[in-house]
Amino acid sequence: MYICLDFIQMKDLVREARRLRLDFPILEKLHPSGHPLIYLDNAATAQKPRAVLSALHQFLSEFNANIHRGIHWLSQKATALYEGARESVAEFIGAASAEEIVFVRGATEGINLIANGLKRVHFQPGGEILLTQAEHHANIVPWQLIAEEIPIRLRPIPLQSDGSFDWEAFYQALTPQTQLIALTAMSNVLGTEIPIPDIAQVARTRGIPLLVDACQAVVHRPIEVKAWGVDFLVFSGHKLYGPTGIGVVYMRRPWGDIFPPYQGGGDMIRQVSWTRTSFAPPPAKFEAGTPAIAEAVALAEAIKYLQRTVGWDFIQAYESYLTDYAEEQLCSIPNLKLYGTARPRGCLWSFTLEDIHPHDVGTFLDQAGIAVRVGHHCAQPLMDFLQVPATIRASFAFYNLPEEIDRLVLALKESVKFFSKIEGEVKLS
Ligand code: PLP
Repeated sequence: MYICLDFIQMKDLVREARRLRLDFPILEKLHPSGHPLIYLDNAATAQKPRAVLSALHQFLSEFNANIHRGIHWLSQKATALYEGARESVAEFIGAASAEEIVFVRGATEGINLIANGLKRVHFQPGGEILLTQAEHHANIVPWQLIAEEIPIRLRPIPLQSDGSFDWEAFYQALTPQTQLIALTAMSNVLGTEIPIPDIAQVARTRGIPLLVDACQAVVHRPIEVKAWGVDFLVFSGHKLYGPTGIGVVYMRRPWGDIFPPYQGGGDMIRQVSWTRTSFAPPPAKFEAGTPAIAEAVALAEAIKYLQRTVGWDFIQAYESYLTDYAEEQLCSIPNLKLYGTARPRGCLWSFTLEDIHPHDVGTFLDQAGIAVRVGHHCAQPLMDFLQVPATIRASFAFYNLPEEIDRLVLALKESVKFFSKIEGEVKLS
């Protein structure tokens, strides 16, 4: 009875995924090879639903004007839409107010903005930043640049062999020198989740600011910045089914008041003279120049689509099913090694095939119309930790279907045959 119910639920979930998939016009495309396009590179960037495409088109064709400074109707309309988008983001991640939300180009710019602020008002010589071994370069290099100016050091915490967070290593690395904890909430390579709410509690008790890179997590899990008590959080709109060129920084109060501006220019000032300039309060203080207005409005539409049309219940139930299904199917391939199998996790798998370079596999899959990512995934220190130069990463969204996983697995099996045949021929010649 239980199994039967599960089967029915699973069929319902797949039916719903099929329905939602129709909202994404690009998924109807054929690959130039004539195969249907199978898009499994969602962790790099997600596809956009019609609602987001229409929001961009509608803003640019009906409401386009520069914001904040215009007194005419169109400018006021554009300003209301842009500030409304800020409200939507604040509500989406559980911020206390929209003033804590700064729009930037993406997570990378967001971390650079925070690094710049912390350099100016927080870091002291000898300080340490705790990170995991699984950070994206966007949460490594900005701190290394700061370390060239202030003598601070990065202290990566090793992960457990299954990719889960190592509490013992974390407590060992936590010292009076720890001046920041900066962690990804979900590894973009392993897919494993980092227990941010629990880490936030430790950070709060010790008075250490906590920065969360939520680029991957925000797509798969609800975020509650205020309830968790994090200081900073960043994510990019394009991974959340929104446009490129727009990202979000959450800065808990009073960090926005304490930080000096990141860039100078129009819109971030209160008063300018040749001798002295005073600045607007946050978030305007951090948004110099004309921002990505249409993109912010479209990001709010992506959030609305995710919350109202798709819904977290569906995302979590269906993605958990897809994750398990993909694991089971991938493990049926001889000599395939998965990296980081711990739960809880996001909907992606990184793996290698023995004796075949990931780039060769990526090219082979592309010929079959299957888009996966191969390489170091902007996480070279993690590759060193895993002792591989690269992996193959298949990352899924709620619009992916089990038969796409079947196609992936079939193509991987064919690639194994193909490359072992070539190797055999090379050995013979
Ligand atoms: N952090 C993580 C975990 C990511 O996966 C990515 C992108 O892949 C980034 C940061 C950087 O995002 P962006 O290039 O949109 O700034």
